[in-house]
Amino acid sequence: MIRLLRYYTKSMPNKRVHDWVLVGVAGGIVASGPLVGPLVIPAAVGVLTGLAISPDLDLADQRPGTLWNRYWWVYSMLITHRHPLSHMPGISTIVRLVYLPIIPLFAWLTLTGHVSELGGWLFSWWLIGLCLADLVHVILDIAVSYWRKI
Ligand SMILES: [Zn+2]
Repeated sequence: MIRLLRYYTKSMPNKRVHDWVLVGVAGGIVASGPLVGPLVIPAAVGVLTGLAISPDLDLADQRPGTLWNRYWWVYSMLITHRHPLSHMPGISTIVRLVYLPIIPLFAWLTLTGHVSELGGWLFSWWLIGLCLADLVHVILDIAVSYWRKI
């Protein structure tokens, strides 16, 4: 059984596993909606945003096939794989959102009075969801790396 698990984790496609786990986390968040309230929706959307704005964009230079990965080419050339700037939840999330540039745009819209209080709340919960996606990603990276060393 352990050999089978070890074989599976060594051969599993990381991106696919990361993506399915995020879908499961988002589903769990939505399922908690009756208990937590409607803010689970922007949080779940934030988690699902992690499918596209992933810490592994630091590998974009090795996967140049899509326009999205080409956009992240400079980012991936500046930050090595699994560097804290790409894999530390919260900090790396902000780094990617500055690179995108969602954070500067949101700050400008807020400073110019174009963001309502509701918009601020929605953005905050979306950001919390995206940070959670990054946390889950890093936990999976660490777990799989640990499992491979056993
Ligand atoms: Zn990773």
